[in-house]
Amino acid sequence: NLPEEQKLLYKSKCKGSNKSREKFDSRGIPLSQIQEEEEEKRMKDREMKKNIRTIVDALKTRKSLSSANFFLVHMSYYVHLANDTYVPAEIGVVQFSFAKGVTSTFHRIFPDKIPIGYHFEAITHSNETHNLLNSIAKDEHGFEEDLNKFLLKDGTKLPFLYTQNEMMESVESMLTKFDCKYNDIFGSIPLKIYSLDVLYQHLYSVSIREIPESIATHALQSSEFDYAPNISCHWHDNIAPDFIKYCSLSCCHRWVFNMCNSLRLQDTFGIIPEKGKHYPDFGSFHGVVDVYQVH
Ligand SMILES: [Zn+2]
Repeated sequence: NLPEEQKLLYKSKCKGSNKSREKFDSRGIPLSQIQEEEEEKRMKDREMKKNIRTIVDALKTRKSLSSANFFLVHMSYYVHLANDTYVPAEIGVVQFSFAKGVTSTFHRIFPDKIPIGYHFEAITHSNETHNLLNSIAKDEHGFEEDLNKFLLKDGTKLPFLYTQNEMMESVESMLTKFDCKYNDIFGSIPLKIYSLDVLYQHLYSVSIREIPESIATHALQSSEFDYAPNISCHWHDNIAPDFIKYCSLSCCHRWVFNMCNSLRLQDTFGIIPEKGKHYPDFGSFHGVVDVYQVH
């Protein structure tokens, strides 16, 4: 039998070895924590998909798919920092319905607060995409208040902002930093960033025929209207027209136009598409592009 002191020493060594069994990733984060976060993400994703399906099914039942209002958001950034946060560059939000097309817009260019050590990365990203480091139209004064006013102006009570899958994480991270809240009669609740890809998948599926999410993504990303005029912010349209494809306001408009185009508004809802609201105010509206024909 071991003496009491040796037993204690043995026990403490065992405890130590238990601790050292915890595995870490290359950044030093415990794998158990990463697994928990991934599970949380999966749950959030399941809840979002269920909510979107419920919203679309309810609209279909009430025959109000074409008159329902949605808000779309696009945000670009100056730089993606090592702590997984972003320095926001530009935000575009549009309100639309299939009946009326784009009905109102919100836009802001943020000051370029680039932390030390990130300037080269920021210049490269700006030159290759939005070019916003060269803009002098930057202003974030009263941003949160103005965005809240914009989202609530019609008394609509939907705290959902839709964006494409690929930027859900960055948009959510940037808006959380701004502490944007949705204020309604029940108090203040955080804005929810939802997937436009999933929304469009369901809208298309209940209106025309069942499609997978990847087809919805493909339709939203059609490059047909990439350089359409008069849908970008004033700065991109007038000062940096070569970069309008990356303007947040242009991206939001193009999502609406691409949805209206592939949904065949006239056949599906009996809506005559209007220039500037359902399609850009140049060229002719094709209106017959089927999402299954786009490869
Ligand atoms: Zn712009």
